[in-house]
Formats: sequence, C-alpha cells, structure tokens
Amino acid sequence: MSQEVNKELSLLCCILRENEIINATLFQSFDKIFEIAEKFIEKYGVDKIEWGVEMEYEETVVDFATLYIQNINKELNTEKQCDIHVVVGSTVTETKTRLLASTEFHCSKCNTIHTKSPYAIAQRSMNVDLIFTCDCGNKIDV
Ligand SMILES: [Zn+2]
Repeated sequence: MSQEVNKELSLLCCILRENEIINATLFQSFDKIFEIAEKFIEKYGVDKIEWGVEMEYEETVVDFATLYIQNINKELNTEKQCDIHVVVGSTVTETKTRLLASTEFHCSKCNTIHTKSPYAIAQRSMNVDLIFTCDCGNKIDV
C-alpha cells in the first residue's frame, strides 16, 4: 500500500469516526469503518478528484458511508409490508397494504409509519437490536 493510500485511509477513518457513522465503541466499529474507507477509495481514488472545499469532501464521505450502511441493511432486511387501517370515528373503514422501505417500520397499534434514524440504521448494521417506543406507548423492535 502506498504512503498516499495509507494517509487517505487514515483521514477517512477519522472522518467516519468523528461523524459517528457507526455508533459503537472504537474497537467495535473500526473494522466496519476501515471497510467503508477502503470502498470509498475504490470508488473515488486518491487525490483524483479536486474537492471544492474541505466540507464537500467530508460531506461526500458521510453520504457515501450512510448509503453503504443502508445497503448492508437492505440486504439484511427482507421486504416487509404492513396493514394501514383507515379509521373513521372508531370504525375501520378500509385496510390498505403498504410495502415498507428498508428504512421504515410500522407501529401496528397506532398505524404510524416511522423512519429509522441514521443512528438506528448504523446500530442495525452492527447487529444491535433496538427497541423503539412509539408516541402511542407501543414498543417496537427496530
Ligand atoms: Zn404507535
């Protein structure tokens, strides 16, 4: 590995860590962070792109990592669907089936579709199970 690549990998790992892309301890998350950094270099190369300002580079890294983690989760999650009840007063007038995106989950108690936070998505990619408490009080495995 060239000095240049080493330096770039180190910088990427720092950025990923600093932006808390994976919310776990350093030792729990490092392998995954390093993997993302390698994939980033695979895609963008080293110094092949003239980044406008420092911020643009960092944003690109964060966007890339977020997408990468989402794709891992997409492979983990099979497609899920949920029933949405249309309620008038206390009567269910209609039941619709809706396919959930990999970033969504459904509260069957109050019929709300929630979007997973980047934090939850990152935790899931580390195989950490989270319990989400809905506004209605229902607890949901995320
Ligand atoms: Zn709910």
